[in-house]
Amino acid sequence: MKLSKKVEFITSELDKLYPNPDIPLDHENNFTFLVAVMLSAQSTDKKVNEITPNLFQKANNPDDMNKLEVNEIRDIIRQIGLAPTKAKNIKKMSQQLLSNHKGEVPNTFEELEKLAGVGHKTASVIMAQAFNTPAFPVDTHIHRLAYRWGLSSGKNVETTEKDLKRIFKREAWNKLHLQIIFYGREWCQARKTKCECKICLTTNDA
Ligand code: SF4
Repeated sequence: MKLSKKVEFITSELDKLYPNPDIPLDHENNFTFLVAVMLSAQSTDKKVNEITPNLFQKANNPDDMNKLEVNEIRDIIRQIGLAPTKAKNIKKMSQQLLSNHKGEVPNTFEELEKLAGVGHKTASVIMAQAFNTPAFPVDTHIHRLAYRWGLSSGKNVETTEKDLKRIFKREAWNKLHLQIIFYGREWCQARKTKCECKICLTTNDA
């Protein structure tokens, strides 16, 4: 199948399956969204949503978060991976917001990526979902599916991001990011156990 046809088919299938994909991480504002995204690295959204109500009840803004000791944050988030590092980063990031950004989450890639614990993927999620700026954060599901659908070489996430941005229309990136993650979770596990889904079979066979 020609790339343009493949892109059309994938977009239309994803639109049928997930017409209005919701942000899966529970949050109250941009600050709590940033914290939730930081917590989600190497964890599941479900687990993050289980622990954040307790954390956000104590601190849903940088000022209150900065008043918590690192150990307190760590104890609240201890059920998720890398809790000690994430606790330190959340405290430091809150201090940086207070010192450099009047307590607000900044809305540029450059400023976001200077915050403790915030890499390009986290910054891309915030830019896309909180500030509605086109971005294509590549998580493990997107990286795997881009390769299995023949859209990218699978070399590394940087290449996958570049390829997907070249292939799909800019205005579709934010929605596609969520749709592909949902598709990956539902249909395409890392170990191929459920290989009967339409997109891969149609686009790779034709
Ligand atoms: S056919 Fe298999 S490899 Fe392809 S998207 Fe579906 S589950 Fe993944």
